[in-house]
Amino acid sequence: MPKLTLSPASRTEPDRRTLIGRDKGLLWHPYAPLDGEAPYAVRGAGGTRLELEAADGTRFDAVDAMSSWWSAIHGYRNPALDRALLEQTGRFSHVMFGGLTHEPAVRLAERLVELTPAGLDHVFLADSGSVAVEVALKLAVQCQLGLGRPRRTRFLALRGGYHGDTFAAMSVCDPIDGMHATFPSLIAEQVFLPRPPAARLQPDGTLAADRSEVAAWICILEDTVARHTDELAAIILEPVLQGAGGMHVYAPECLAAARRVADEHGLLLIADEIATGFGRTGKMFACEWAGVIPDIMCVGKALTGGYLTLAAMLCTPRVANAVTQSPLRALLHGPTFMANPLACATACASLDLLTENGWQEQSARASAALASSLAPAAALESVRDVRILGAVGVVELNCAVDIPAVTRAALDHGVWVRPFRNLVYTMPPYISSASDLAAIGAGITAAVALVHG
Ligand SMILES: *Cc1c(COP(=O)(O)O)cnc(C)c1O
Repeated sequence: MPKLTLSPASRTEPDRRTLIGRDKGLLWHPYAPLDGEAPYAVRGAGGTRLELEAADGTRFDAVDAMSSWWSAIHGYRNPALDRALLEQTGRFSHVMFGGLTHEPAVRLAERLVELTPAGLDHVFLADSGSVAVEVALKLAVQCQLGLGRPRRTRFLALRGGYHGDTFAAMSVCDPIDGMHATFPSLIAEQVFLPRPPAARLQPDGTLAADRSEVAAWICILEDTVARHTDELAAIILEPVLQGAGGMHVYAPECLAAARRVADEHGLLLIADEIATGFGRTGKMFACEWAGVIPDIMCVGKALTGGYLTLAAMLCTPRVANAVTQSPLRALLHGPTFMANPLACATACASLDLLTENGWQEQSARASAALASSLAPAAALESVRDVRILGAVGVVELNCAVDIPAVTRAALDHGVWVRPFRNLVYTMPPYISSASDLAAIGAGITAAVALVHG
């Protein structure tokens, strides 16, 4: 099929008869200008496949390498998830959570308490990851208040971290990536540590890093916390894998040190497992890489298997009791769609599938398959590093990715990827077959080679 090139005129006057034309200038897409790069139209999705159509009319039947941003771990139109959602629709779709409770919420909370590290016994159901982070930060401050430390209202966060797009969550994101300078007076000033030193997955399945770099980072951590103890409520971090801030894998020793230093200085440790949770890094939760139990944990993204927006915050009885025994008593949050029954019922079914499908074998299989299918990328001129952790594969370039060109080239090889900055990466659905995983590695390598050499 001949490829149409957009004339300047058609760029300003989109064809309103097409979906992409109707979208243009009407809808904002994530972190994109209103008149930005044309999206691909989704014609259908099933299993690990996305049926896409480009603005020029070209159609693709693509293997999904993104799990719709870490979420669709069991694939699209999963029969078990479809059934759970439909069954709950037949009972009731939504009821307020103020003064009411229901089976899907209670069952999901019980399941989450069982699944998460021991001691996380109390659950707040939020409507997105960013909101779960907001609630976690709020809870940390309320906890310190309850413990008689009203001045502890700031947070210690990591450079290169990402925790969401609402204002308090933005304040603990990397200050440069988080565009703090754009909203100077609106973003609380937090305390930051450098990115923890990189770690690499070893053949024996452990993560190894340079010992002296780790020791130096821990010194900075100890120093910084000592200098700011009286004003810090908590340390917040993504355990072992920083996602949207650069797909950076770091030494578990740094996570263990954060736990120890937090304890020594009366800070809480908040683990943001929104991207890493539910088996993605090869452990059920990434905290397990360091045997660390946080005081507060946030989960989201894969929670409903990518069906509906839902997140959760869990905490220990010590944290919950500090709030309950304070004069306020309540945790000051309560969204309209809190504990949405459709989302909770689907989440329960998704957690069932993790066990039924054997997430550990799925993750180990994906890890090995991506390691071999992405290995050839390491030999490319434009590639600085190829790294794997669990069911995550990252190709880091030594230049910014030409995103539209690499996306299109990968689609021409039958793979849907969404690169950012200098990274082309994949976190495929857990149900991906050996041939899907081979196609993903080959498609990414071919696209990078074609566009960047
Ligand atoms: C995606 C993400 C969030 C924000 O979740 P949303 O559902 O997009 O609000 C927070 N923290 C981490 C680590 C994430 O990856």
